[in-house]
Amino acid sequence: MITYGPIACDLDLEGPGKRTGILRLTHSDNVHALSIIPIPIAVIVGGEGPSVVLSAGTHGNEYEGQVILRELVRELPPESVHGRLIVLPSLNMPAVRDDERVSPLDGANLNREFPGAPDHGPTAAIAGFVSEAILPRCHAGIDIHTGGAWTSFLPLVYLCRCEDDAVFARSAALAEAFAAPWTYLVTDVQGQGGFDPCAQDQGVAFISTELGGGGRLGRETLRIGRRGVRNMLAHLGVIESAAEGDESAPAPRYLTKQGSDGTLVCECSGFLETFREPGDAVRQGDALARVHPVENGFGPPETLSAPCDGIIVFQRTSAHVRHGDIVLDVATEIDREELLRG
Ligand SMILES: [Zn+2]
Repeated sequence: MITYGPIACDLDLEGPGKRTGILRLTHSDNVHALSIIPIPIAVIVGGEGPSVVLSAGTHGNEYEGQVILRELVRELPPESVHGRLIVLPSLNMPAVRDDERVSPLDGANLNREFPGAPDHGPTAAIAGFVSEAILPRCHAGIDIHTGGAWTSFLPLVYLCRCEDDAVFARSAALAEAFAAPWTYLVTDVQGQGGFDPCAQDQGVAFISTELGGGGRLGRETLRIGRRGVRNMLAHLGVIESAAEGDESAPAPRYLTKQGSDGTLVCECSGFLETFREPGDAVRQGDALARVHPVENGFGPPETLSAPCDGIIVFQRTSAHVRHGDIVLDVATEIDREELLRG
């Protein structure tokens, strides 16, 4: 039994074989008088090899990863695994149950709560359990995000720059093995409570993803995700063979950006009409969207222009916007050498 604050795990993470179970998150509030919220966990332990953590549902309304990881657990017999997989397909189960991005229990965003704490609410406890009980057991990992209910993303892998060059190089190798159409170098995540930097700080090679979004399960993004996870596990030697070759895949492309450059923020409330799609190249000043106001009478729509040259990484798909909402993000294309230099 592993206990951490309000979380208890009685699933054996060490012995050979395939097992599924739950983390028991004890919680009490006006909705949950006295509840034990089940967070699913699976382990597949085979022969010699690395340990890998695979998670999804860190944001509750992001769907592809939750499907892909459950499939993986069903499909992989322990005899085919060289090492160990620890799978948390719906890590923020309270948010998953309510189809929300952040936890309905405490309003916290799990991907801002790492490394977590046992006594700062249920979301920090989930992060802390992962930091204290899972990451120290692992060599590599992935956290699968998607655009969620409100946003459509390019299918991409996030590769976070970290201080340790060796950990960064191992993370970059995971990103290349995943072989998403796009890889996005993140250079400014330190100190923001994210899963990726917390894992890398513990020496765990780590990547995360964004796959599609728009509130639906995308067939193409499911395909990219399934292939990517298997490719990554084959690269690590945990399974024998990568996914079949993908001859139709275009050459991989690479993106990055600095701070809030390229972020287009809505400066009025209304209904959003977008003119372009993620992946489109834009020039500074291009009209990318307009907002039809609804609160100030019969005024004309307000045009939103590209803040800089670059590629649209994600775009809001939900039409109703408020002043301050991010409408889309434009990043800079870089080459592979720039990516690998970090
Ligand atoms: Zn997410």
